[in-house]
Amino acid sequence: MVIELADVQSAIENEAVIPYFQPLVELRSGQLYGFEILARWQHADLGPILPPNFIAIAEQSGLIWQMTWQLLRRAFNAATQLPCPPRLAINISPIQFRDQALVSALQAVAKETQYPLDRLTIEITESAILENVDIAHEVACELRALGCRLALDDFGTGFSSLAHLQALPFDELKVDRSFVRTMTTSRESRKIVAAVVGLGHSLGIRTIAEGVETEQQAGMLLRLGCDLCQGWFYGHPSSAEALSDIISASPREIRLHPAAPSNHVIPVCLEAMPSQQGSQLHAIYDGAPVGLCFLDRDLRYVSINRRLAEMNGAPIEAHLGKTPREMVPKLFPKFAPYLYRAMQGQQISGLEIERPAATSEGDPMAILVSYQPAFDEAGEIIGVSVACVDITERKRAERVLRESDERYRSIMETSPVALWVLDHQGNFIDASSPWYEMTGQTREECEQKGFMEVVHPDDQERYWDVLTESLRSGNLVDVEFRAVDAEGGWRWMRVRGAPRYGPSGEVVRWYGMAEDINERRREIESWRQLLSEMEMCRKQPGSFGYCHPEIVIHIV
Ligand code: C2E
Ligand code: CA
Ligand code: CA
Repeated sequence: MVIELADVQSAIENEAVIPYFQPLVELRSGQLYGFEILARWQHADLGPILPPNFIAIAEQSGLIWQMTWQLLRRAFNAATQLPCPPRLAINISPIQFRDQALVSALQAVAKETQYPLDRLTIEITESAILENVDIAHEVACELRALGCRLALDDFGTGFSSLAHLQALPFDELKVDRSFVRTMTTSRESRKIVAAVVGLGHSLGIRTIAEGVETEQQAGMLLRLGCDLCQGWFYGHPSSAEALSDIISASPREIRLHPAAPSNHVIPVCLEAMPSQQGSQLHAIYDGAPVGLCFLDRDLRYVSINRRLAEMNGAPIEAHLGKTPREMVPKLFPKFAPYLYRAMQGQQISGLEIERPAATSEGDPMAILVSYQPAFDEAGEIIGVSVACVDITERKRAERVLRESDERYRSIMETSPVALWVLDHQGNFIDASSPWYEMTGQTREECEQKGFMEVVHPDDQERYWDVLTESLRSGNLVDVEFRAVDAEGGWRWMRVRGAPRYGPSGEVVRWYGMAEDINERRREIESWRQLLSEMEMCRKQPGSFGYCHPEIVIHIV
């Protein structure tokens, strides 16, 4: 049927154009935020007729005013009948927005229906600003003064311009549904949505995505930091009778759709805004003691931090837009294969690269590199994040330690004394052959069980206390205990050891010796016994009387 002006006129006069309500939902929580009012012409024969079929005629004929007040009156009445009137958003045609009569008429309807205007959002498109920015600005300010919020509808289509966004005090920005519909399949749409959401955040304006039909779209929008959304996924436009059911329904939380293969962890901070996350990351990035950069799909430096720029010997600005092949041509062949693999989606870590010294006297630099592919919201690779740690010092310390271990080993091979080496935690590393001969332990047993195995059960606690105290404090180890001998008997042993420190003052090794002190202990024991017998004898009547023990011993 071709719709004529007379049809529209009769529909409006008969109040056949009624409000439908589509839920607006908070993406993070799935909670209902409010409703957008959408006009529906209830045609007796054709059923509901959608606005694109009659709005233009209503605008041209001026019937739009009457229609708007009818819609608002009904919508406000439906809202105020509820225990807590929900937030509402109404579409206002550009021609209405250029007319100051809008404000007073709106105020009158709100007063009549007792609807609080601070719960109303006025949605306009950019065409409302095009002809006369000054009047539009005046109307916008008056609406704001009434408590209304202002939303810019269909953003991204038509005359979208940043100047318009700045011209009026907008509170909300509605991302047009044409982008949302294709954002899961089209990279360009996705980038536009991401840019609009980012723009909204930077300007402090809430973003609302329209036409969300699938969970995947909702997940992607959530990840992008979009605040609100509406669409068939959350609910079709419904009549006023359905309002209380929609309000009491449980929130629809969404599962995040994995953007990248499931083995990639996607950190999502639901509390911080993307812009805050961005600033935080920027601060970490700049101050990191680790060299960091991001390379795009063409392997160009998109960003690089100070540390990596220093490592590459060129300022940050000199890198941007260039490739590693241009910036570090000699080094490039060493890491290029790994970088290409990362660009195919493989995570690479622990790659050690040696970088020749800048001068003939200088040491070569050792760098530990990792490549982490970065995916966009749809799992497409957009570049590689690179981290480089300078491990030259660590490598040098390891080499020094290895050399000192080797020197000690050569001493151990020729030493008649039992020598041993433990790591910084007291774990067995090495012992010389006299140890194995003295205790009957094999090297494998030492490796698996350490020295505790050979310590007499009654001495184990003391041995352990001394050892742990030294490991904690770095004090010398010095402990005597009974140890099992090769025949299964017990012999006294004295173990002494000292720590060796690394370049940062941390204990890296324990070196020490173990000596058989059984004979000496026995000798001391017999002296001790003799002395106590002498002491007894001194105290007994009729004995030598007072006598210095040393003298007695000499007599004996
Ligand atoms: P709009 O303001 O962009 O409204 C959103 C449109 O998207 C609505 O179409 C809605 O039914 C539709 N929609 C919502 N969710 C989905 C979804 O998931 N998928 C798809 N494909 N569509 C979805 P509708 O109701 O046909 O309205 C069309 C346009 O007519 C509105 O676009 C608005 O510009 C205008 N309009 C509607 N009611 C009024 C009104 O009372 N006054 C004025 N001046 N214009 C109105
Ligand atoms: Ca709208
Ligand atoms: Ca829209």
